[in-house]
Amino acid sequence: MNNKTLMDNLRCIPDFPQKGINFRDVTTLFKSPECLNIMVDELYEMYKNKGITKIVGIESRGFVLSSALAVRLGAGVVLCRKPGKLPAETVKENYTKEYGSDTIEIHKDAISSEDVVLLHDDLLATGGTMRAAYNLVKKFNPKEILVNFIIEITDEGLHGRDAFEKDTEVTTLITV
Ligand code: 5GP
Repeated sequence: MNNKTLMDNLRCIPDFPQKGINFRDVTTLFKSPECLNIMVDELYEMYKNKGITKIVGIESRGFVLSSALAVRLGAGVVLCRKPGKLPAETVKENYTKEYGSDTIEIHKDAISSEDVVLLHDDLLATGGTMRAAYNLVKKFNPKEILVNFIIEITDEGLHGRDAFEKDTEVTTLITV
């Protein structure tokens, strides 16, 4: 269920980064101590019994709650980054976007087959970014992969959840 405080604090910026896009700005949720607490508490309740050992944060707005939640869960944080940012050897995944293609990567020694991985990003639109992250983490053969977003966009005719198999556990804190 959508938390009213989170909904009230979420800011929309019309025509950003280009005309016609209604950008949901989560920085207004991050800067509010009350919203931060609500989000981390809700996530903790959702994942406290799931045996999560690693949280993979998607660059860059996915990093914020990943670390806060990891501390609460006693899990580690793994950074999923754009190319050329990580210093050690990486595993990569290429994916296509609306305009062109992109690559994301994770350090080769960041995840093991013993891990239960929670993937986290700020927003689910088409699901393309997270699906690429899911495919990337799958290469590490972890025990389980779960997926979470702060916001799921379902107005604008988007069905981002369809990017994942039915048996993949996908959760969100806010649906708009
Ligand atoms: P998707 O790959 O699901 O189409 O888009 C989601 C990715 O684009 C996420 O990494 C997210 O950070 C970014 N993104 C796209 N639209 C928005 C938006 O309106 N607000 C925010 N905060 N991020 C967005």
